[in-house]
Amino acid sequence: MRLLIENCKVFGEKTRSVLVDGRVIVGTSDDPTQTVPADTIRVDGNGGTLLSGLVDSHCHPFEYGWLKRNIDLRGTTSVTGLRLRLSAKMQRAQPGHWVTGMGWDHEAFPGRKMPVKTDIDDISPRNPVALTRVDGHVVLLNTKAIESLGLESRVGDEYERGPDGKLTGIVKERALVDVFSAMPHSVEESASGLLNVEVEAVRFGLTRLHCIISSEGYKEELGALASLRSSGSLSMCYNVFLPPEALGYVSDEGLGQKFGDDPVRVNGVKLYADGSLRSRTAALREPYSDDPGNTGLLRYSDEQLSELVEKADEAGFQAAVHAIGDRAVEQAIGAISRVSGSKNPRRHRIEHASLLPPDLLSKMAKFGIRASVQPCFITSDTWAVDRLGEERAAHLYPLRSMLEAGIVASGSSDSPVETLNPIIGAWAASVRAGLAPKEKLSLEQALGLYTKNAVSNGLDDYLGVREGAPANLTLFDSNVEGMHPALFRKVGVMAVVVNGELVGSLADARV
Ligand SMILES: [Zn+2]
Repeated sequence: MRLLIENCKVFGEKTRSVLVDGRVIVGTSDDPTQTVPADTIRVDGNGGTLLSGLVDSHCHPFEYGWLKRNIDLRGTTSVTGLRLRLSAKMQRAQPGHWVTGMGWDHEAFPGRKMPVKTDIDDISPRNPVALTRVDGHVVLLNTKAIESLGLESRVGDEYERGPDGKLTGIVKERALVDVFSAMPHSVEESASGLLNVEVEAVRFGLTRLHCIISSEGYKEELGALASLRSSGSLSMCYNVFLPPEALGYVSDEGLGQKFGDDPVRVNGVKLYADGSLRSRTAALREPYSDDPGNTGLLRYSDEQLSELVEKADEAGFQAAVHAIGDRAVEQAIGAISRVSGSKNPRRHRIEHASLLPPDLLSKMAKFGIRASVQPCFITSDTWAVDRLGEERAAHLYPLRSMLEAGIVASGSSDSPVETLNPIIGAWAASVRAGLAPKEKLSLEQALGLYTKNAVSNGLDDYLGVREGAPANLTLFDSNVEGMHPALFRKVGVMAVVVNGELVGSLADARV
């Protein structure tokens, strides 16, 4: 297919039109009167900004698809609100079937208390219920679920117990695998969930997702990607990040070769060094300011994490280490630098790298360690100063300092934790409501998080919007150059091109 996007303005360039043939850009021009071959589809850019296709460098589209199918608890502001949405679902649930939901946030509840099983037991006597917190690191179970999973006898900090010694229904972190693996998964449901998410992602201008595959449902999720790929149903491209337990399965099934080219490529291995700040499970060097006895949880010893990074490296994969607290970030830097020295040829990266004091920031830069950052956290983490105190919170999400130190930081949503919309992400990075204002990015830097940095934090080198570059493009509905960042969040998407195909377009396309 030959495609001409004209009457637009390529971000930061003079180019006013781009000609695509097959999967590559074959020509660019600043001459509005140029002639193009017949049978070319012409897209009128209407003066909008065209840029390299937006990429989300860390999201969980299968979990988001699952959330869209189940109870969406985002936006509830009390246990009563949570109960209302659960009761509505319970009326239609078949006895014995799992009822699941996601998105509650006790930080928005009066008294900021975590809900417990007794808050929901009376309305769910016949069904096991699992309701995941917005960050995906904590789940609330009812008594029926605790019984059916046989969890009462488990030991460990991940299983919260009340004064009576019984489980409260709150289960955290690594123990979540016990819960999720017991839930029903299917290839068909995973596939339809993903396609549902794609529609939204394309509407937001995304062309590629770095897709985190879950530990609990990896067979079904990889199966869904394989079947959607072979039926040609995918509109976007996926760089897949596997849980370590899927490595053997992927090599046994030959998925490494099968997923060797767009639209689905195996990119890396996702490892978790710690939990989350919201749940006070991120590993800190000093205790939480609002919980003085607690420094969070490291999931692995230094040796264990190094071994896992080494294993990923040896298998030819990029390691993507989730590290939020400064103690976890330090551990991740140690593990990656031990394996890859100062050049980091495999582009190993730290997911989040949230609390980054100057000593760790310069170490990350020194060892060429990349980062995947989530600008929306800046506007959402209204409790950050409570958790960390003023002094430490100044080193939370230091985006500008990271870029200035030379760290390749790519933008992402961590969806469904935050909206998948990269326009809102770039807006959050450039307006930075709350937290240290000196860390604000220019709009150009903020868009760079989702274009050049995200591309190079995957498997490719960034080639921009020029001849010979892959034809992945996003067309905004207005000219954003020179726009005040505060206005940027209102910008819409007119067209999206993935591998030379026009996959989403509100523009006037004509042959
Ligand atoms: Zn994540």
